[in-house]
Amino acid sequence: MAHITGTKINYFFVCKRKLWLFANQIEMEQESDLVAQGKLIGETAYPEKRHELAIDGVMVIDFADLQSGVIHEIKKSDKMEEAHLWQVKYYLWYLKSKGVEGLTGELDYPKLKRRETVALTHEDEERLKGIVTEIEAIEQLDAPPPKLEKKFCKNCAYFELCWA
Ligand code: SF4
Repeated sequence: MAHITGTKINYFFVCKRKLWLFANQIEMEQESDLVAQGKLIGETAYPEKRHELAIDGVMVIDFADLQSGVIHEIKKSDKMEEAHLWQVKYYLWYLKSKGVEGLTGELDYPKLKRRETVALTHEDEERLKGIVTEIEAIEQLDAPPPKLEKKFCKNCAYFELCWA
């Protein structure tokens, strides 16, 4: 499952079309101001703790508190919380598959002064297996899934590609 990245899990919940575009190497996310803003929030909110951990090209953990066994994911807004939640659950599952067990996750929303603990249950692991299968099927489609027509499209890196 190393080809399934945390970003793909996130996009699976946000927009299947976005997932397809990303998976088919149409990468425009680096141009998104919102992504840059999100990174800046992470860097300024926790400057003393911030040590990004890149693992297997699958994930970039914003920072990890190894003493308490917590991995942190920093987000700007909680509007896509389900996507954030499953992204962190996937990290926990992937790390468990590599023999790193007993971790928990935390979603940090510094702008909202809110934190959410993320645990991985047996049911989550079963659901993640299904999600991985669904992502693989979406990636193989010959054409991208339909557009969503959601308000958040205007903040998406693929907005012009979808709507211009
Ligand atoms: S602009 Fe909207 S429809 Fe297009 S990829 Fe982004 S979220 Fe999906």
